[in-house]
Amino acid sequence: MPANKRDKASDVFNSTNYAFCSKVSFSEAFPQIKNMRVEVEEDGEGVYELSKRQVFYKENMGEFINCSNSRCYNGGFNIGSIIRNMVESKRTEFETDRRCQGYEGSPKGKKRYGPCFNSFHIKVQITYNE
Ligand SMILES: [Zn+2]
Repeated sequence: MPANKRDKASDVFNSTNYAFCSKVSFSEAFPQIKNMRVEVEEDGEGVYELSKRQVFYKENMGEFINCSNSRCYNGGFNIGSIIRNMVESKRTEFETDRRCQGYEGSPKGKKRYGPCFNSFHIKVQITYNE
């Protein structure tokens, strides 16, 4: 990987052992979810069109969705917590906005230059097994 690449939220998460948070896939963690569609629109640095749209399903969903700002360390947001909240209350649709949790900094994140202003608009649809 390039020397100046910043670890993103999912990289930091994957290299950390959270005792309280198991790293099983969403399909395994939530057998009650039949289908899931998560649409994420990102605005900010590293987004070369008006906005960047990504779609995720339970098969390719991770705990975090990364931001596109190449100077941002630990960038992205926690989609897992949004999904868990929805599943707990059996919600089928949810729409929200999140700011990037990262900051612009040195490649290993030791120096902070300032916040990352990338933002995400998130639309989630879930169907449940009977
Ligand atoms: Zn960021």
